[in-house]
Amino acid sequence: MGSWRILFLLSNNWNYDAISLWPFILVKKNFRHKGIAPSLLRHEMIHWRQQLELLVLPFYLLYFFEWLLKLLFYRSWHKAYRSISFEREAYLFEHTSTYLKDRSPFAFVKFIFK
Ligand SMILES: [Zn+2]
Repeated sequence: MGSWRILFLLSNNWNYDAISLWPFILVKKNFRHKGIAPSLLRHEMIHWRQQLELLVLPFYLLYFFEWLLKLLFYRSWHKAYRSISFEREAYLFEHTSTYLKDRSPFAFVKFIFK
């Protein structure tokens, strides 16, 4: 993938190591020296694809809406986050090196009712 997408802008104290803000992937500043784990990069690239498929803005709206619904259901910030369909897909396949090559478009839909 093109390294132009990766911006080392996030504070090292932040809760998350990286975030995909299409067309960029923002990562913690200290990753410039530490390097980025392939699984982390793949996780963010899965979100990058999801965002592209949903034409970016609807991704964030759906992401937030799904998180809110699941927060009401689970009453747990972390459980709600981990059960968002976009996150389920990303966490399930972040260690599968061929996933982005083989992934079918809109693959996250399968995870909405899981
Ligand atoms: Zn994620």
